[in-house]
Amino acid sequence: MTSNTNTLDRDRGILIVLSGPSGVGKGTVCAALRKSSPDLVYSVSATTRDPRQGEIEGVNYFFKTRDQFQHMIDNDEVLEWAQYVDNFYGTPKRFVEDTLRSGKDVILEIEVQGALKVKQKFPEGVFIFLLPPSLNELQNRIVTRGTESDESIRSRMTVAVDEIRLMDHYDYAIVNDRVETACSKIQSILIAEHCKRERMYPKIVQWINEVK
Ligand code: 5GP
Repeated sequence: MTSNTNTLDRDRGILIVLSGPSGVGKGTVCAALRKSSPDLVYSVSATTRDPRQGEIEGVNYFFKTRDQFQHMIDNDEVLEWAQYVDNFYGTPKRFVEDTLRSGKDVILEIEVQGALKVKQKFPEGVFIFLLPPSLNELQNRIVTRGTESDESIRSRMTVAVDEIRLMDHYDYAIVNDRVETACSKIQSILIAEHCKRERMYPKIVQWINEVK
């Protein structure tokens, strides 16, 4: 073990970023993860888009006006933000930082531009890209969801292709053909990430120092 070995702080939680085109099923996979991994903490984003039917303030999103959203940006309250189609989306910073510091893993479900900004600030984060079984299937899923206008569907499909082009920046890619399978793959990734050698260095160094 050399003195310049990279170490990860094992007392800090892991930041997981989950991206993937609109309609790929990130929300469904996250809902399944919530059940199967209750210790994983979900970051609730702020957005200027209108709530969809059934969405709850503070659970699905913090719904903001454009002025309120701009105020958050001006006050450095967001870890990252991005414009997606016609709306703004951003990750509240304080919550993520406090939760990681408390040792819990945090998952962000965000689009690619925002994920790339997070990567600059948290290169040690774990970046997972969720893929649809095919682009046709993706379009079917957005249409079947019934929440988007024809124009929004077209925009989301265009953005989807642009997003898939950027998946090189991610550590893992998972095809969401079955929610349970995708969910257990993410759990496996997290188990492996927690076992990373670098996470153990601070503890081992402490052991060695105690023996010396
Ligand atoms: P939707 O309108 O379907 O809820 O979300 C549209 C896109 O915005 C999705 O790809 C979703 O992952 C992304 N998104 C949600 N919250 C955030 C956020 O805080 N930051 C960024 N950059 N994207 C977000």
